[in-house]
Amino acid sequence: MPGSYKGGYMGRILNVDLSKGKIGEEALPGDDVLRKYIGCWGLGLRFLYDLLPPGYAATDPENPLIFFTGPLTGLNLPGATNITLATKNFDTNFTVGRSHSHGRFGILLKMAGYDGVIITGRSEKPVYLWIHQGKAELRDASGLWGKDTHDSEDHIKMDVQEARSSVAAIGPAGENLCAGGMIANDKNHSFSHSGVGSAMGAKKLKAIAIFGNAPVAVADAERLERVRKQWREALDRPGHFGMKVGQAKTKMAEYRYMLDLIGFVGRNFRINQLSDFGRGWSRQKFTPRPCPTCPIGCSYDVQVMEGAHKGYIATLSGGGEALEGAGSILNVLEPGTIFYLTDQYDRLGIEGSAAGCTIAMAMEAFEKGLIKGMDTDGLELIWGDAEVAENLLRKMVYREGFGEILAPGVKEAAEAIGGEAPDFAAHIKGSGINLHDWRSAWGVLFGQIVGSAAGWPAPGADCWTIEPDAGYP
Ligand code: SF4
Repeated sequence: MPGSYKGGYMGRILNVDLSKGKIGEEALPGDDVLRKYIGCWGLGLRFLYDLLPPGYAATDPENPLIFFTGPLTGLNLPGATNITLATKNFDTNFTVGRSHSHGRFGILLKMAGYDGVIITGRSEKPVYLWIHQGKAELRDASGLWGKDTHDSEDHIKMDVQEARSSVAAIGPAGENLCAGGMIANDKNHSFSHSGVGSAMGAKKLKAIAIFGNAPVAVADAERLERVRKQWREALDRPGHFGMKVGQAKTKMAEYRYMLDLIGFVGRNFRINQLSDFGRGWSRQKFTPRPCPTCPIGCSYDVQVMEGAHKGYIATLSGGGEALEGAGSILNVLEPGTIFYLTDQYDRLGIEGSAAGCTIAMAMEAFEKGLIKGMDTDGLELIWGDAEVAENLLRKMVYREGFGEILAPGVKEAAEAIGGEAPDFAAHIKGSGINLHDWRSAWGVLFGQIVGSAAGWPAPGADCWTIEPDAGYP
């Protein structure tokens, strides 16, 4: 029963069978399971273990998409916005797939009355799922198929006639089953890892829209408020790494500082210091777009103030990996172009390292003479040529011409190109990586390599440290 669970749970899971067009629900597991697995990935991976027998591919109807919030999601606590997705990893097809996102999507799922959503089967035609105020329905999305993530969000909000709703949608990359397909939500956020957008595209599920406004019950509101105050004070302490709302430019400076320590991914990992990367970023216009209740506010819009894309507004989020995937790895250094191209990745629904590593590998293969213009539909793949990069990106996500070679991801594409190309294809188990040059922090790289999900994220086997002080036994 909704609300009968204290301690931040709503008590219900939504079940959707796309093959049968059936929607049902089940009660959240009991206290013994919740105390063990808590929520989000813990609970999601437990369900995945139970629901998916060995031998199925990420694109099989049997592969479930398991979205879970945690007991803190939706409470008035700093950054309490997390929602995770567990499924079979599309990019490796042999490890688990783990992804997570922020924004309003998880919060509204809780407030619509559900802790999680489990989606199985495969629809015959494109559909989207509309979850609202304790109810859910499937709606036709044939007219949305082919639209990018941002346009899909705008259309669906109009269709459900609820401007306060949150929409998570795939783009052409997920529809066309490209490596690194992601699910974008609330414009500034995404489930980026493990090719989850392509696992969703295989189900012909274009999007999930949610609205709800039920309060989330807690066991001890007074005690929670005391914790919230302590938490806020800790965040306000000088020297805390996160930025405060309104300091988007400072975040950019911090990012630059951090990468001076770690190293950028430059020209497909061949250089890791680029004095021009990051120059001129502060001349663009940043507007913080913090998630509800978050004092850190890593998400931002950036309006390009100069150059070929002057006036364009990119809707991005904290972490610079995607900026390296659209910028330094391709030797694209002009700030406005980097923000524009990063936003194109988001709109087309492809994760930055999957797209960036693949295009960079192709550029290096072209430089080394392994492929020529006759292989690339006449394109000259020259480092730093942003127009060529965007052209390749579109060919890849729409599987046109040379893009058909690139769409399965950097590992398979390099094998298809042949020669020494697999030697300079950057990936982990065929999946994307956390796109910095981690050769100055081997502990982190090691964590990504041995982490169960492949690539990033790999919590539990990750250690933020600069060698030689490993920091753990
Ligand atoms: S603004 Fe950034 S730090 Fe804050 S909750 Fe959202 S994603 Fe997390």
